[in-house]
Amino acid sequence: SRPDPKISLEQLRAELERRNPAEPEFHQAAREVLETLAPVLAARPEYADPGLVERLVEPERQIIFRVPWTDDNGRVHVNRGFRVEFNSALGPYKGGLRFHPSVNLGIIKFLGFEQIFKNALTGLGIGGGKGGSDFDPQGRSDAEVMRFCQSFMTELYRHIGEYTDIPAGDIGVGAREIGYLFGQYRRITNRWEGGVLTGKAAGWGGSLIRPEATGYGNVLFAEAMLRARGEDLMGQTAVVSGSGNVAIYTIQKLAALGANPITCSDSSGYVVDEKGIDLDLLRQVKEVERKRVSDYADRRGASARFVPGGRVWEVPADVALPSATQNELNAADAAALIRNGVKAVSEGANMPTTPEAVDLLQQAGVAFGPGKAANAGGVAVSALEMTQNASRTSWKADQVEAELARIMTDIHTTCAETAERYGVPGDYVAGANIAGFERVADAMLAQGV
Ligand code: GLU
Repeated sequence: SRPDPKISLEQLRAELERRNPAEPEFHQAAREVLETLAPVLAARPEYADPGLVERLVEPERQIIFRVPWTDDNGRVHVNRGFRVEFNSALGPYKGGLRFHPSVNLGIIKFLGFEQIFKNALTGLGIGGGKGGSDFDPQGRSDAEVMRFCQSFMTELYRHIGEYTDIPAGDIGVGAREIGYLFGQYRRITNRWEGGVLTGKAAGWGGSLIRPEATGYGNVLFAEAMLRARGEDLMGQTAVVSGSGNVAIYTIQKLAALGANPITCSDSSGYVVDEKGIDLDLLRQVKEVERKRVSDYADRRGASARFVPGGRVWEVPADVALPSATQNELNAADAAALIRNGVKAVSEGANMPTTPEAVDLLQQAGVAFGPGKAANAGGVAVSALEMTQNASRTSWKADQVEAELARIMTDIHTTCAETAERYGVPGDYVAGANIAGFERVADAMLAQGV
């Protein structure tokens, strides 16, 4: 007889926590997905086989390696490198690399797990994976970053390939790092294999709009959620956290669609700028000079102030786009946003909203776009970069942007229709998890154990 899916999901969760001790972020990401799967497991008997979900929560492969490198003073440092190849039912493993001191196996597993469903939602034939290192690029010279990237790739190269696993950027990994990584892959393998990494610079195989894609896509998703409620972004005040690649292009697209993005932040605090963030100044400070957002406030003049140690969510706004890192928006922050009348929250970062905060926002009727759906634009354009590499062409910016817009609209529709179909209209969390799960599960079942 078929096991009761509800009981087996609870058992599965307990078993997952037992087998993966001290990985709270992975537990959090897995729990959130498992909690929303009960209705689909009940409705589709072929999914109720507990072996299916058991396989889904166990990475296909986990690689951990030593990354030794020499700093500019000749001192040797040893970091740890990771690549978690989580699921390849829909395509080669695909997902970014994160270089940040907080990185550990549990963080990479949470990110890799989310990536499976996100990548499935894009519909572009990519499996899920993630990697990174506890290396801290902050304050390191260009030469140090290069030597670190070369050492990292000296091990990673044997595990990746355009038909196997295609890394890209994430926090701490941008075009500069992808360049150094690609150079080392090419030297070691003697292959000019463009499709092995995405987020390359536009002159040598990169896609136009890839840097912009995550932020642009998230704003398009927020706009789609508002439109489903008869509104749009025009004239809306927006709070954005973070000041990296995702935040910068979120701010740019918000302004382009007539909203007023008034904040950005980093680990030292946030900036609120009543006139709207000056994107040229922010890019100069962050991308060119690699400095802090407080420098933005110092140079911007009277409209901006820096709030050291403050939480950006205390600034009243119509829409909020968390674009920094995991668990940056907690229950108290959600309560503040709700008190100030927020209409939509859309996740540019991966899992920035705590589960308690998601519950509060959804109960208050706020449109909530989970990262798996809302920030899928980045990896979607990575898949378009792979397509361009495979066909040895490069598309014009407006062609890529039109594809991105189509993909984000499709993801929004898929999530909304799936939520509707399972009796939870407007619940984009359930819609994204179930729709992503169905695609992966169908492929896994068809391909056997
Ligand atoms: N790191 C990004 C994400 O979280 C992009 C991954 C990619 O382009 O492969 O989806």
